[in-house]
Amino acid sequence: MPSNDAVLGLKCRVCGKMYPKAANFFCPDDSGPLEVAYDYDKIKPTVSRAKFQARPRNMWRYKELLPLDGEPTVGPQVGGTPLVRADRLADALGVERLWIKNDAVNFPTLSFKDRVVSVALSKARELGMKMVGCASTGNLANSVAALGASAGLDTVILVPADLEKTKIYGTAVYGAKVVKVSGTYDQVNRLCTQIVMKYGWGFVNVNLRPFYAEGSKTVGFEIAEDLGWRFPQHVVCPMAGGALIGKIHKAFTELSRLGLVDQEVTTKMYGAQATGCNPIADCVKSNRERHKPIKTPNTICKSLAIGDPADGYFAAQLIKNSGGWAEDVTDAEIVEAMQLLAKTEGIFGETAGGTTVAVAKKLIEQGRIPRNEEIVICVTGNGLKTQDCVFEALDEPATIKPALADFDALAGLAAAEPALV
Ligand SMILES: *Cc1c(COP(=O)(O)O)cnc(C)c1O
Ligand SMILES: [Zn+2]
Repeated sequence: MPSNDAVLGLKCRVCGKMYPKAANFFCPDDSGPLEVAYDYDKIKPTVSRAKFQARPRNMWRYKELLPLDGEPTVGPQVGGTPLVRADRLADALGVERLWIKNDAVNFPTLSFKDRVVSVALSKARELGMKMVGCASTGNLANSVAALGASAGLDTVILVPADLEKTKIYGTAVYGAKVVKVSGTYDQVNRLCTQIVMKYGWGFVNVNLRPFYAEGSKTVGFEIAEDLGWRFPQHVVCPMAGGALIGKIHKAFTELSRLGLVDQEVTTKMYGAQATGCNPIADCVKSNRERHKPIKTPNTICKSLAIGDPADGYFAAQLIKNSGGWAEDVTDAEIVEAMQLLAKTEGIFGETAGGTTVAVAKKLIEQGRIPRNEEIVICVTGNGLKTQDCVFEALDEPATIKPALADFDALAGLAAAEPALV
C-alpha cells in the first residue's frame, strides 16, 4: 500500500496530540475525538479546479482532500448529487435565492451516508479488516450493508429495535447480519464500542469515525463547485451526531485555504433537529457550554435521534462562531414540510429532510435568515424510506369502477368543458 504523506495522521480535537492513521478514535489523555490532519502545503500544488472538473462527477473527484493512502476501492460512484435551484420552494418560504442539495438521490442507498461509508470502508480495506459494521439510526445501516456487500466484506449492524421496518429489511436484504437491540441509539452505540474493543472489527462510526466523517466534506465541495466555486451565505443542515454540519464548513475552509475558492469563509451554519431529540439545538438556544443528553428520544425523525451526539460540542461551537443558529421542530411540522418540499420541488425527502426544511422556514420567519440572501438547504435522505410518516397526512385516493361516467363524477377532476377529441 502506498502511503499518502499529505495525510499527517489523526489529531486530538481537544489537546492537539497526534496519533497514527490507524483505527484510533479517541485520545487516551482526555477522551477527545480524533480528526484527520492534512499537510495543505503538500496538497496545494496537486489540486486545481480544472483537475477536479475533468474527473467523473462523483465525490472522488476531490480525492486529494480525502484521507485514503491508495485509490478508493469501495463506492467509486458515490456522490455528485444535484444542487437544485428551488424557486418554487423559495416563493413558498418568501426568500429570493434558495437551493436544495439533494442527497435523497445519492447512490447507492439514497442518503448522504454513502459518502461517509465509502471512505470508511475503503480505509477498512487499507487496514486489512474483513469484518465491518456500525451502530445506526437507519441510513447508515443501509449504506454499510450495501457498500459492504459490493466490496465482499462481512457486515454486522446493530440498530435500535424500534427502527422503521423499511430500514431494517432494507439492510437485511444485502446479506448483512442485523441485530436489533432493545434500547436507544446511545445504548446501541455504547455496545458497539465494547464490541470494537473486544473484537477489533472496523465499525465505521466507532473506530473508523475519523475517516468516516471526512466523507461528509464532499457535500461542501460539491455545493461550492456547483455555485461556481463560491460559498453560499447560509447553509441549513440536519444534525444527528453533529459531524456533517462541521464537515461542510471544514470543506469550505479547505477550498479557501487551497485557493480553489477566492473568498474567505463567512457562511453562517444553521443546525436542524426534531424537538423530540434536540440536544444540539437546545445547547445553542439556551447558550449552554455543553449539550444535555436526551435520555429517551421521541420523534418520527429517527434518523436524527441521537440523544448524546459525539460531535455535539463542536457542532454547537461552530454554529455560534459562524453567526448561525439552531432550531428544532415538532413531528407535525416535519410532516408538513416533507409535503411542502414534495409539492413545490418534486423532491421526496425523508423525515430529516422535513426537519431541515421546517427549521429553515422557522429561521426565516424568525428573521434569523435574511430573505434576500443565498440559502442552501441540505436534504440528506429519501422519503421512500419513511413513507409511513406521511400516510396519515394524505387523502386516501378515490376508487372508481372502470367507467368514464364514474370518472366524470369525481369532483374537481373532470374538465368543465369537453376537450377536443
Ligand atoms: C446520519 C444522518 C444525518 C446526520 O449526520 P451527522 O453527521 O450524524 O450529524 C442527517 N441526515 C440523515 C438522513 C442521516 O441519516
Ligand atoms: Zn487529547
